[in-house]
Amino acid sequence: MQSFPRIVPPVRRVAVAGGTHGNEMSGVCLARHWLGSGRAELQRPHIHVEPFLANTRAVERCIRYVDADLNRVFTDKNLRQPKSDNPLYEVCRAQEINETYGPIGSERAYDMLLDMHNTTSNMGISLVLTSSSDHLTLHMAQFLQRKLHPIPCNFLLIEHPTLTYFHVRRVMKHGISIEIGPQPQGVARADITDHMRRSVAYCLDFMHKLNSGMELPASTLDVHRIDRYIDYPRDGDGHITAIIHPAFQDRDWQLLHPGTPIFVSLSGEAIAFEGQETVFPVFINEAAYYEKKIAFWITKRETLNVEPLRVEDGPHKECTST
Ligand SMILES: [Zn+2]
Repeated sequence: MQSFPRIVPPVRRVAVAGGTHGNEMSGVCLARHWLGSGRAELQRPHIHVEPFLANTRAVERCIRYVDADLNRVFTDKNLRQPKSDNPLYEVCRAQEINETYGPIGSERAYDMLLDMHNTTSNMGISLVLTSSSDHLTLHMAQFLQRKLHPIPCNFLLIEHPTLTYFHVRRVMKHGISIEIGPQPQGVARADITDHMRRSVAYCLDFMHKLNSGMELPASTLDVHRIDRYIDYPRDGDGHITAIIHPAFQDRDWQLLHPGTPIFVSLSGEAIAFEGQETVFPVFINEAAYYEKKIAFWITKRETLNVEPLRVEDGPHKECTST
């Protein structure tokens, strides 16, 4: 059966965020560079691209956040309340970001957010996708994967009935997080930062090609959907009693079978994965997740159908702003 392409408006305004977490240095360094002498790197014809530092105070102090995780505070309630009613810096900053690049759900909101993150886990180049029905973003993910080949690029789908969070990507009409590791917090590695720079460039290339009339045929996309997370073993006081097993360390995106050792206790005993089925772990031993009581996430692989898509007015009616 022939399916007709979904028609979408052109992508005209793109925000590129670094420092949503202030100690994830690839995004911090690149956003600063693009805000200064490197701005021309982001230019694409007829697309306005705006780099920005998201959690500016955390960036100044090279910490993840000041009062609260910025990538968790974009709730409707937080964004609606008067600034004076909330003492948390990140809630005020979320309101500013919503005013500048949103507001959420409005016609005025930016079309796309590219949100740059680093992880201490061995995740390689990973895209965090929010929705299995945002076909424009799914096509962009596929384009990026093709361009990066043979460097692997995996997709983490965080769509889940209960385990969701209120991230900055909610503000724009479409958005992805580009999550690249392993890189320690507060450190910028040249190889990781180069991967980030190339990933952002390919995403912008995709948007330009889409606006220029490129037809995107129906296809499929293999993603890893979050299922649940696993905490570290703890004692009665809540302290960790075991750490990630050395044979499990760095095995992000690789099959995890029931019975495989995942932790080793501080007295040296291996602790096996008790799941019932084979799964794919991600964010193994992520530094920022110790406070969230997450040792790693469990995902399951699935294949999404991606609908054919093209831009509504093709190459001839481009807006004149740059
Ligand atoms: Zn982050």
